Amino acid sequence: MGAFDDLLANNRAYAETFDHPGLDSAAHSGVLMITCMDTRILTHEILGLTFGDANIIRTPGGRVARSTVAGCIVAVQLLGVRRIMVTQHSRCAMASGDDAAIIQRIRDTSGADASKIRFGACPDQLRTMQTDVDRLRKNPLVADQATIGGFFYDVDTGRLTQWIK
Ligand SMILES: [Zn+2]
Repeated sequence: MGAFDDLLANNRAYAETFDHPGLDSAAHSGVLMITCMDTRILTHEILGLTFGDANIIRTPGGRVARSTVAGCIVAVQLLGVRRIMVTQHSRCAMASGDDAAIIQRIRDTSGADASKIRFGACPDQLRTMQTDVDRLRKNPLVADQATIGGFFYDVDTGRLTQWIK
């Protein structure tokens, strides 16, 4: 029994009824969402979107890293994205403390040393969201063709609110 067998079996069932062949890779709703890797966020469902609608970039905490900016540039320049949603959420592990706290939790849990890793954890979610929105707004390859907003998703109510207009 392989570690991924259950998932491959699930996928065989999925592919049997798959009916979206030949779709191009453009974001037909012009949307790119950057959000956390958290298991409670079903990105397309919370926005009422489906196949072919949106690009999604998932990072720890929904933070905008260098590779995230690269993804935004590709999406805006090549894939038709015109709206970028920088999205954080409630009860996020990456907002439960700073990097030192995350590193300590890892040490406490497994004994592993993650002290060389820069996680970007911070409890002040409005501040980090503003930093990330500003980072994209200052990049002309992104901002000249896209509107960028900051959003907060409540994992207990399913409600999305705009924090930064
Ligand atoms: Zn999170």
